[in-house]
Amino acid sequence: MALLKPTEVTEGIFQLPAIASRVTALVSGDSVTLVDAGLKGSAKWIVRGLGRIGVSVEQLSTIAITHHHPDHSGGLSGLRKFTSAKIVAHRSDAAVVLGDKLAPNPYQNRLAALLASPVLPAFYGPTMPVDHQMDGGNNLPFMESVQVIHTPGHTPGSMSLYVRDKGVLIVGDALEYRRGKLKPPARMFTEDRNQAIESLRQLLELDFETICFSHFPALVKDAKNALRDMVEETAN
Ligand SMILES: [Zn+2]
Ligand SMILES: [Zn+2]
Repeated sequence: MALLKPTEVTEGIFQLPAIASRVTALVSGDSVTLVDAGLKGSAKWIVRGLGRIGVSVEQLSTIAITHHHPDHSGGLSGLRKFTSAKIVAHRSDAAVVLGDKLAPNPYQNRLAALLASPVLPAFYGPTMPVDHQMDGGNNLPFMESVQVIHTPGHTPGSMSLYVRDKGVLIVGDALEYRRGKLKPPARMFTEDRNQAIESLRQLLELDFETICFSHFPALVKDAKNALRDMVEETAN
């Protein structure tokens, strides 16, 4: 378990424990958007976490998936039992969630991919409808202040969410944050590393102070400068 208690990143933005990752809840008045769904079996953790931040699962209007990997989309089917919230994903990853395209093996190392392949279907869980297929530049349904930023590389349809009025970026697996340092996404699970770094460079066009990750605690201060330093270092 990545973390046991919900944490408030800033007003109205919370991170909640799920299996194998953390999910983010955006609370705006009565409307709640969940970013990612954790690994299969995460629903009860997420419902409990929502309760602990004073939100009921009925308030969920949208579940936005940052990318199709099973530790982000696997919990969707479980959540569907509690909510009819609209499921949102980037157009380029939606086909995997929908089952129109076979999930590619996330391991980029040939031996690891071979070893993992027999168990992968169990992690992915059943295919799910995608109610809204997003493009970069779209705003989230029911939450106009949150913009989809297409950040391909980790997967073709990886998307980050930009909460403009709070200066917060939710990046899924587009970035790592280890021992106080930002890093590009893990080579082992990233389909196109050069494209992933180019996506990070494009994030520098936005104004933000805070970054929320899926597998690391949030970086709450001076995140844009940290990202600029990292992108420059990676280029050299
Ligand atoms: Zn991933
Ligand atoms: Zn992940």
